[in-house]
Amino acid sequence: MLSRQLLDVIACPKCKGNLEYRKDLFCRKCRLKFKVEDDIPNMLLEEAERF
Ligand SMILES: [Zn+2]
Repeated sequence: MLSRQLLDVIACPKCKGNLEYRKDLFCRKCRLKFKVEDDIPNMLLEEAERF
C-alpha cells in the first residue's frame, strides 16, 4: 500500500496530472498504467503500459 503522502505528491510524468491508485497507478488522461511493485511505483514513461 502506498502512503497517502506519496500519493499526494506523485503525478503522471507525461501530463503532470493526478493518478488513480488501484494496485497500480493509472493516468486516465494519457491512458497509461504505471506498475507498483513492492510498494515502489515505476514512473518511467517508457515502461508504462497503455490501457
Ligand atoms: Zn498523464
